[in-house]
Amino acid sequence: MSRVRGYIAPRRLSFPLHPLPLLLTEIIPLGTASATPTRTRHLSACALRRQGRLLLFDCGEGTQYRLLEAGISRRLDAVFITHLHGDHVYGLPGMLSTLGLMGRPEPITLVGPADLERVVRALPGLGVDDLPFALDFVALEEGFAPGTVVYAQAGFSVTAQPLEHRIFCAGYRYEEAPRPGRLDAARARAAGVTAPADFEALKAGRPVTAPDGRVLDPAEYVGPARPAPSFAYVLDTRPCDGGRALAQGASLLLHEATFTQRHAARAVETGHSTARQAAEVARDAGARRLLLTHFSARYPDPAPLVEEARRVFPSAEAAEELRVYVLGEEGGKGKEGEEGEERKEGMGSAHETGDT
Ligand SMILES: [Zn+2]
Ligand SMILES: [Zn+2]
Repeated sequence: MSRVRGYIAPRRLSFPLHPLPLLLTEIIPLGTASATPTRTRHLSACALRRQGRLLLFDCGEGTQYRLLEAGISRRLDAVFITHLHGDHVYGLPGMLSTLGLMGRPEPITLVGPADLERVVRALPGLGVDDLPFALDFVALEEGFAPGTVVYAQAGFSVTAQPLEHRIFCAGYRYEEAPRPGRLDAARARAAGVTAPADFEALKAGRPVTAPDGRVLDPAEYVGPARPAPSFAYVLDTRPCDGGRALAQGASLLLHEATFTQRHAARAVETGHSTARQAAEVARDAGARRLLLTHFSARYPDPAPLVEEARRVFPSAEAAEELRVYVLGEEGGKGKEGEEGEERKEGMGSAHETGDT
């Protein structure tokens, strides 16, 4: 196990790239329920796909089935667990066990509270000698440095921030490397640039000598660096500095909204956020897009939560399970998943839900 105190060196994995999609980063909510599932909502988990890599944020019970339903390859690289409440972690044993039966050789990184390793290893079939692949645990300890890098690969990294829940809890931010500015190719051509290598040089910020001997300054031909696409995963928590730091300028913020303001006192008591508070975090942090999740079963339809959030953050939406959200795409075009518009009454809606 590596205990987090600072930067963890990028590690190369050796599997081939998944054929499609190669260029987009996709966020796919797999479960949007809090505490107790309903007939239409599953327990917390969210997949991130990027160029054949798969990251998972939380792993509620049944996550492996949700991955199957979403048609997502289970060639998993890393799982980021926020905290050790059952609705965020009970999906791990079944999923890891299945991956073991499939005989995959590649290691899986498990990031989460320090007790995660003890919890996982205590289960039958998940011991060090039981699985055909290594589990690389990255343990977050109480008092870890906000913004700690917990996982990094070529082109992106994931950082963690402490959140404020009833037990130790961490949120995560996935961020890609900044994208270079766009090259004004027409202008470069007008200055006499013709060789592809020279276009590439300008793009990379290197000066180029034009046919007439002038040295072309790349700053004049390349626009400002474009913001790096980022995804903030903020569950379960009261509104807090850690959540705001994760959400800072995020392309997409997935924030818990367990209750409406009507149950604000219950939110404080249980360490959760209301929809309005989630929207305030998004607004204050300058997030570009807000998806609400982790809905209490008392709301069979998330419409009241969305309505409340929109008074603060007009474009707020309820995360839809199995819908594909393309990271950094203006306007957030998404492909509809199987459950896109389906809304049915949840089985726990009339009862106290034990929101964890
Ligand atoms: Zn919880
Ligand atoms: Zn929860």
